[in-house]
Amino acid sequence: MKTIHIIGGGLAGTEAAWQAASAGCDVVLHEMRPVRMTEAHVTNGLAELVCSNSFRSDDWENNAVGLLHEEMRRSGSLIMRAGDTHKLPAGGALAVDREGFSAAVERALVSHPHIEVRREEITDLPPDWQNVIVATGPLTSATLSQSLRALTSEDSLAFFDAIAPIVERDSIDLSLAWFQSRYDKKGPGGGDADYINCPMNEDEYRAFVAQLKSGEVTQFHEWEKSTPYFEGCLPIEVMAARGEDTLRFGPMKPVGLRDPKTGRRPYAVVQLRQDNALGTLWNMVGFQTKLKHGEQTRIFRTIPALGDARFARLGGIHRNTFLNSPRLLDSSLRLHARRSLRFAGQITGVEGYVESAAIGLLAGRFAATDALGTEIIPPPETTALGALLAHITKGAMAATFQPMNVNFGLFPPLETETRGRDRKKLMAHRALADLDQWLGRRAAAE
Ligand SMILES: Cc1cc2nc3c(=O)[nH]c(=O)nc-3n(C[C@H](O)[C@H](O)[C@H](O)COP(=O)(O)OP(=O)(O)OC[C@H]3O[C@@H](n4cnc5c(N)ncnc54)[C@H](O)[C@@H]3O)c2cc1C
Repeated sequence: MKTIHIIGGGLAGTEAAWQAASAGCDVVLHEMRPVRMTEAHVTNGLAELVCSNSFRSDDWENNAVGLLHEEMRRSGSLIMRAGDTHKLPAGGALAVDREGFSAAVERALVSHPHIEVRREEITDLPPDWQNVIVATGPLTSATLSQSLRALTSEDSLAFFDAIAPIVERDSIDLSLAWFQSRYDKKGPGGGDADYINCPMNEDEYRAFVAQLKSGEVTQFHEWEKSTPYFEGCLPIEVMAARGEDTLRFGPMKPVGLRDPKTGRRPYAVVQLRQDNALGTLWNMVGFQTKLKHGEQTRIFRTIPALGDARFARLGGIHRNTFLNSPRLLDSSLRLHARRSLRFAGQITGVEGYVESAAIGLLAGRFAATDALGTEIIPPPETTALGALLAHITKGAMAATFQPMNVNFGLFPPLETETRGRDRKKLMAHRALADLDQWLGRRAAAE
């Protein structure tokens, strides 16, 4: 049986390694950190979360990413198991303690008898490797990027992604801020006060927006100027420039919140979500930015409850690279131009931790099926896994391909027209029934 080589030990590569080894295959996982770091990673750990610590909604009946969580759990996902073990209070979202999560993933892989982890940068694609998964992510090292570009006739694309600042909790003024989840929604841990809310009145908000618009930002290089932002992760100053109220209808919306001091809804609010198990670090939700570091400190301290804030990390912006997958990849994620090469994770044009791990899960299973000489059966397109896979490999238009989060719009319509929440529920129930059948069918085929 051919060894499966996986390049990149991030969200996708670790999940792929786990799935392939669980199917009985020998896996070598090549991770370049700490020999070479990326612009965003700060630890040596496998499956490091580079920015937010959230896997987003965990509600499988009403939210497509929650459904993806559930499908991955049923498919034996290591990423979901580690996430569930290290979850933190976050309303209806699944947020995780990033250090505990990464350590759990690493422990499971290094102690697996079929997995060898090698700390080395892969700078080119060794021709004698017959079964390879490239899961090097949006920050693929420069030399490997060049090799990939040569192999894909330069048909790769790019966009910008940004990260949000993290504040030390004991520097937040809790005589001005308060704990509450929007609409007091209960989270998986049962808590309904999982966020710290920093209120602003109208004058404070308007002054803040003006500061954001005039703040000094990091300049792009000449070659980066034509690269667009990912719409789901816009820098806060870009949102401010789009309109006076854009932020108040976006990350600073006050709906579902009541300031206990006034008994009223504030004009605008900055929310912070717990970022580590100790509860000492809190992430400014939606505050990704490319403002210069000095400007971030100055402007964010004008938020009344953050007047003395200490920042454990400031925001930043990075270029992401991804393939034109609809043109380049087949339905089992193999490169048309070299079928021994499979791709997984964000580099395939999915967006987000969970989506990246989900494509890793599929790539790991497909590579194992190849190694074992059995037939590849992709998941049905009615499942979240299948819908996402179908979108990147054939559903999206190659000419306008952009990274995509999972959403119910990617699913085939129901047989009878249904609207609103019922539609999502029916799609979610159909997905899990079809997934269970697929998992059973696979077990029988293997
Ligand atoms: C700055 C930034 C912020 C982001 N913030 C969020 C967020 O808040 N929420 C969210 O859901 N998603 C976010 N994303 C998007 C995406 O979900 C993550 O990037 C996710 O980690 C992608 O998973 P991956 O496995 O594809 O890549 P990664 O997790 O980045 O893993 C790739 C791994 O490959 C290694 N590697 C790279 N090149 C080589 C090489 N040549 N040889 C060996 N190893 C190599 C890297 O060191 C890394 O460990 C962000 C992305 C970026 C860049």
